[in-house]
Amino acid sequence: MNTASAQVAKPAATVKLLIDGQFVESKTTEWQDVVNPATQEVLARVPFATDAEIEAAIASAKRAYKSWKNTPLAARARIMLKLQALVREHMPRIAKTLSAEQGKTLPDAEGDVFRGLEVVEHACSIGTLQLGEFAENVANGVDTYTIRQPIGVCVGITPFNFPAMVPLWMLPVAIACGNTFILKPSEKVPLTATRLVELLAETGLPAGVVSLVHGTAPQVEQLIDHPQVAAVSIVGSTGAASAVYARAAARGKRVQALGGAKNHMVVMPDADLDAVVESVMSSAFGSTGQRCMAGSVAVAVDPIGDEFVARLRARAGAMQIGPGDQAGVEMGPLINAAQRDRVLSYLQAGVEERAELVLDGRQRSVPHDGFFVGASIFDRVNPDMRIAREEIFGPVLSVIRAKSLADAVAVVNHSAMGNGASIFTRSGAAARQFTSDVEAGMVGVNIGVPVPMAFFSFSGWKGSFFGDLHVHGKDGVRFYTEVKVVTSRFV
Ligand code: NAD
Repeated sequence: MNTASAQVAKPAATVKLLIDGQFVESKTTEWQDVVNPATQEVLARVPFATDAEIEAAIASAKRAYKSWKNTPLAARARIMLKLQALVREHMPRIAKTLSAEQGKTLPDAEGDVFRGLEVVEHACSIGTLQLGEFAENVANGVDTYTIRQPIGVCVGITPFNFPAMVPLWMLPVAIACGNTFILKPSEKVPLTATRLVELLAETGLPAGVVSLVHGTAPQVEQLIDHPQVAAVSIVGSTGAASAVYARAAARGKRVQALGGAKNHMVVMPDADLDAVVESVMSSAFGSTGQRCMAGSVAVAVDPIGDEFVARLRARAGAMQIGPGDQAGVEMGPLINAAQRDRVLSYLQAGVEERAELVLDGRQRSVPHDGFFVGASIFDRVNPDMRIAREEIFGPVLSVIRAKSLADAVAVVNHSAMGNGASIFTRSGAAARQFTSDVEAGMVGVNIGVPVPMAFFSFSGWKGSFFGDLHVHGKDGVRFYTEVKVVTSRFV
């Protein structure tokens, strides 16, 4: 082999669509690179599916629905049991793919898969979750009962930041309830979703019950508009979530739309500061701040602020930053250049708004060719500054000083978002008051902003959620089923 031909780069592999049980190459002319954000290596090319491909996915999902909805509950649950075992077995391989395309550290990537796996486990007990109700003798000789039936073809649109967990918030519950499901994962991270549906194919799931398509807004809009699609779930930025909510609702579709967030953590003067610092570190800088449950504002109640900020600054400044697959690395890169530039622009905005930048992540040099920004902390932030109000989605923590718990709660409730909020305190009374008064859907007490276990629902409030029924837990089952009320007389 001569040197010239040895230097010809091998074209990146193409990501396939899953339609009617077959992994197929897209016929589209529109492709996007899937890039490792730590190295800028092109891992693969993802297609933006054609109209005909989206149409074919919907048609096969509709065909599969006819027999899948009548497949016994226990048989559907057994598919979930097989999927659970397969995901567990392949966890390290999935986490490696996830870390490569998304950038998070390997332990974080395993956590991403594991939190999704909990929903698969939840869906294994679909027999008890999908039960109806019965009332005997509502009139002479008349009984009434309810049946929870599946609703048809359901669609899931997912974001880049949790490539395994978020698709698994939807897919297991949807299909265990007897629906068919079309997944459109983030075009930035399609490889993890591909690994997951490859494993699903090994469970014996009939063709068409799950499909995988790729693309962006036009593909999503075609899915929403199609008369055969019954329900749409989206997790993404507030702009995308509200657009999908409005479009789907206007067409009479069932829709749940999870948007952006700005989560607060209140630190009371009686809190155990060692534990607080570790929790805040994980909430603020875990996954490089690219979490909808990131704690991006800390509200320090007098007089704990100075000591809290000093300890946090020392800890955050010493974080090990680098590619997520390297041992000891605590924080990986941001997803792409645009997101890095967005974070840098917020750092500049905070400086211009005269917040005190006590840890400047721009100064942190990382010897890798990725989209890295170091952990940053602003102190003495005013609740009306942009860095306090807007979702940055990066490793930037704003610290607001408050005089009392009531002041701190007022700061939290000033936010337009309401995904999660936490309080750190040894006082049961303070914890109780906070839990009762705070306007956020998921509350932590002495724990960083918490994602609930799968048997509860992920229940964001305010600008963080559009819809009525949340993902997983009891709401998830309600979302993916419709109640039929039967009144019968046999005498
Ligand atoms: P994004 O909004 O850019 O994309 C999310 C998904 O929606 C992708 O699949 C994308 O292709 C699609 N999409 C984008 N614009 C669309 C449009 N106009 N119409 C239809 N579909 C569209 O979000 P992202 O950057 O991938 O993810 C980060 C965002 O997701 C953050 O704002 C984060 O807070 C949010 N998020 C929220 C939750 C939650 O539970 N509330 C969980 C994870 C992420």
